[in-house]
Amino acid sequence: MKYNKSEVSVNNRICKRCLTRELAEQGENFQYLREYIENLDMDVKAPAELYEERLAVCKECDFLLQGMCRSCGCYVELRAAVTKNSCPYKRW
Ligand code: SF4
Repeated sequence: MKYNKSEVSVNNRICKRCLTRELAEQGENFQYLREYIENLDMDVKAPAELYEERLAVCKECDFLLQGMCRSCGCYVELRAAVTKNSCPYKRW
């Protein structure tokens, strides 16, 4: 994955528009988060298509920083994984 200069800090560890699953590719460990999402009960878990649509919106949002929403403080992958959740700015 390539980043433009404004998205990456001097030490290459800050990515403004990354999800945790992309940080994991850089060696960060968010396995616990992925396992939690994978094991959500089906009656609360967002369908895969809805989940990806939500994350695509977050990826374009200025509030996203290293997988976390700076508005609500949630990891967006976790927030988006639950059907009843919504974006604090009503973007999804
Ligand atoms: S949850 Fe909403 S405000 Fe937060 S990063 Fe996603 S789109 Fe942006």
